[in-house]
Amino acid sequence: MKLHPAVFLDRDGTLIEQVHHLVDPSKVRLIPGAADAVTRLRAAGYRIVLVTNQSVIGRGLLTEEGLNSVHAEMSKQLAALGTHVDRIYFCPVAPTVSDPRLVEHPDRKPGPGMLWRAAEEHQLDLSRSWMIGDAVSDVLAGRNAGVGGTIGVRTGYGAQLDAEDPAMDYLVDDLLAAAELIAKLQTDPSGASASPQSNEA
Ligand SMILES: [Mg+2]
Repeated sequence: MKLHPAVFLDRDGTLIEQVHHLVDPSKVRLIPGAADAVTRLRAAGYRIVLVTNQSVIGRGLLTEEGLNSVHAEMSKQLAALGTHVDRIYFCPVAPTVSDPRLVEHPDRKPGPGMLWRAAEEHQLDLSRSWMIGDAVSDVLAGRNAGVGGTIGVRTGYGAQLDAEDPAMDYLVDDLLAAAELIAKLQTDPSGASASPQSNEA
């Protein structure tokens, strides 16, 4: 059985603009360059898997149907730019603590559950996969799942990321820069160990 590499993407603040407790499809805005990044990563052979914590459902602020409407709008905007994500996983659990490093539920990032389920359901090779996000819980979810590399982006809440955080292999400006970095490392893998905390794409 052939396993595929994947790029696991956070949604809010990484693929689309950060909106606190996003429930309204009309507030969905792709981050500039994000669709281009998805196009490039798919062309490079990666499955694109969105993994998103959606506590709005657990908090009773949004139904699963409402979430589907948000994702339909997101997909429409991606399609208008000629691309799409391959799969979307969400975790509806509302946290009871605010520690982004604590795994309170296996599916809620930083838990690895969504990534592991995607890997099993879609024959993904975690060791050749990446996790990209704007929060420490994102890169930690990647670490906890055992992906090959983790990338923080400075969009969304990313300004709060600490470049020295050991959960993060790289910190770059945005998703497009992350896609460029992955492409660069594909052609020149030596760059991976040479600059493990590179600020450049
Ligand atoms: Mg985010």
